Amino acid sequence: MNDDQLLRYSRHIMLEEIDIEGQTRLLDSHALVVGAGGLGSPAALYLAASGVGRLTLADDDVVEHSNLQRQIAHTEASLGRFKAESAREAALALNGECRIEALSSRLAGEALLAAVEAADVVLDCTDRFSSRFPINRACVKTATPLVSGAAIRFSGQLAVFDPSVAASPCYACLYGEEGDDDSLTCAESGVASPLVGVIGSFQALEALKLLSGAGTPHRGLSTFDGLRGEWRRFELPRDPHCAVCGAAVSD
Ligand SMILES: [Zn+2]
Repeated sequence: MNDDQLLRYSRHIMLEEIDIEGQTRLLDSHALVVGAGGLGSPAALYLAASGVGRLTLADDDVVEHSNLQRQIAHTEASLGRFKAESAREAALALNGECRIEALSSRLAGEALLAAVEAADVVLDCTDRFSSRFPINRACVKTATPLVSGAAIRFSGQLAVFDPSVAASPCYACLYGEEGDDDSLTCAESGVASPLVGVIGSFQALEALKLLSGAGTPHRGLSTFDGLRGEWRRFELPRDPHCAVCGAAVSD
């Protein structure tokens, strides 16, 4: 680490849980953020500011006027541009040393698998089950930790799935693979602006811990009721019959 980096990351380095070793691990790590909207904006910005050395930002959407209410990586000047490109620019403005790749085509199939396999951690910042299930499958298949966040109306939730831990569930243990997209999108239901910041920042924090080795990863499922300002945490056992990570699949 050079002098500039020692100064830039000094508030991390003075944390004994991170220190120089943890910051060096961050600088050597690669996070994949799928979705550069409400959750992906704060997640990507915090990861870049934190000193994660390499980021891949994937989103095939373009910035629309109604996104600006909460997707804080984008500005009025980004309207009509690909979100991945716009978020890349915002993150680079924060930290020019971060190597950032923007993927503006739909990440699926082999491309998704390759992107997940190349990453040390994946942040699912999408808003559709039809995206979440393939991301989960790719993470289970490649044994890549997955930090999953969701936000709708005034409610949010977070879970961390770490396939390297034998007892860890996967996203499909929680939802199966038959979720209904309509129940999930902010376009139909609305969402409170700072709520996506709460959950997206929580995702960045969990990714930072996984990458630096600080603390212990979040366990179970946390839900946040923004109207009451209340968090709850639920145990999330692995489903032995899960179609994705169950014994019949992996063995
Ligand atoms: Zn599972």
